[in-house]
Amino acid sequence: MRALTALLLCATALLTGTAEPKELTVTTIKQDPYTMSRDSELEGYCIDLISELAKKLGFKYNIQLVKDGRYGTLTESGNWTGLIGEVTRGEADLAVAPLTLTATREQVVEMTTPFMQTGISFLLRKDLASEESNFSFLTPFSSDMWVGMLIAFLLTGLCIFLVARISPCEWAEPETDENSFTLLHSFWYITGALALQGAGPHPKSLSGRVISAAWWVFAVLLLACYFANFNSMLNSDTKHITINSFEDLANQDVIEYGTVNGGSTMSFFKNSKNPTYRRIYQHMERWKSYVPSMEEGVRRAQEGNYAFIGEAVSLDLAVGRYCKLTRAQDVIAMRGYSIAAPLGFPLVKNLTVAILQLSESGELTYLRDKWWPSSCIGAEGAHDSGPLQPHSLRGLFLLLGLGLGLGLLMALLELASKARSQAKDNKKSCCSVLAVELSRRFGSSGESTSPEASDKNKA
Ligand code: GLU
Repeated sequence: MRALTALLLCATALLTGTAEPKELTVTTIKQDPYTMSRDSELEGYCIDLISELAKKLGFKYNIQLVKDGRYGTLTESGNWTGLIGEVTRGEADLAVAPLTLTATREQVVEMTTPFMQTGISFLLRKDLASEESNFSFLTPFSSDMWVGMLIAFLLTGLCIFLVARISPCEWAEPETDENSFTLLHSFWYITGALALQGAGPHPKSLSGRVISAAWWVFAVLLLACYFANFNSMLNSDTKHITINSFEDLANQDVIEYGTVNGGSTMSFFKNSKNPTYRRIYQHMERWKSYVPSMEEGVRRAQEGNYAFIGEAVSLDLAVGRYCKLTRAQDVIAMRGYSIAAPLGFPLVKNLTVAILQLSESGELTYLRDKWWPSSCIGAEGAHDSGPLQPHSLRGLFLLLGLGLGLGLLMALLELASKARSQAKDNKKSCCSVLAVELSRRFGSSGESTSPEASDKNKA
């Protein structure tokens, strides 16, 4: 590929009447961490990328910064600004920058396959994105988790009630004894356990005790998880996030928001047919809330009351650096960053192949890791402690389920063994005795079926 590129460059040199293959002029834009100046030198992801590509394809180049500091949009007079403008006017051979591949740009310049994928999101201060709620005591668990707990509570109450009815060790004589585990008492009993208060009477049968023990373990571990998460949520900056999506952003007018002026993100909102995105564009146009550069957007977001809309991969860098900032989960309009060259530029195909090779060999991932360090990792408040989801406590629910199943099975076995011995004594079939037992225990007059029993109860 190196020889082919050299040949292409020589052919271009011959066609343009120069003996030496000329040095390519590469234009770029200052944006952390793609291109940054250190002393008099430039460094960053894009600088490393072009040097790798030059090594692979064997060309020489010199780098210059874009004169107007823009990425490139089409002006009303039909001219392109920024990086795209420099490439179309022949002032540069290549534009190597976080330059988004868009349909309109692809019509006027040649663009390689993307070297990085991203989408549009927004950045704002954590304290703006969150709100103190009266019900913040509910936040340690997600709504699914609360629903799961309610189901577990109802099932356990029901199981205790059933077991107390089925098990002869709990309720020996349905005709004469009163069953202390009514449905109401069963729920009261497990409510007591949930609040670590003993609300007796306790089950006497082994089956009932198995269910109680499973519920106690469930309740204690659940409470431990609740308090641990409650504590970490109180101490972290992550409260109830209220501005999560572009819809939320568009529906409020307290927080100002804007994009980089003259970039593809601004064009996206301008050309979008989606009513929410149109409203966002109209708002930005009315208040002229654009920023000249990514750095300025991040600075305004840090100052407060400003949400900076930009490309997720670049916003993540700011979130990694400034722990007070957070990025919304909503990511729209997936796009990629590409290298731009003039239409018909012979090197584009080779650049695309080289980018793919760098990606396949893991070089692009290495560069990404090199230039996207996060100083926020481990910093106070950086660690997100979101509400606990049921799948995190799957084992706990499973344990309770096992306890309930085992308890019910044991109660049935206890009843079956009593029915068996009765069947033996009365010389009846075991099934019929079991059926009679069950109907005595669950029949409408389950608690007192015989006249003697009611007399006894009255007495
Ligand atoms: N990457 C964008 C572009 O190529 C610039 C940043 C932005 O618009 O968010 O135009």
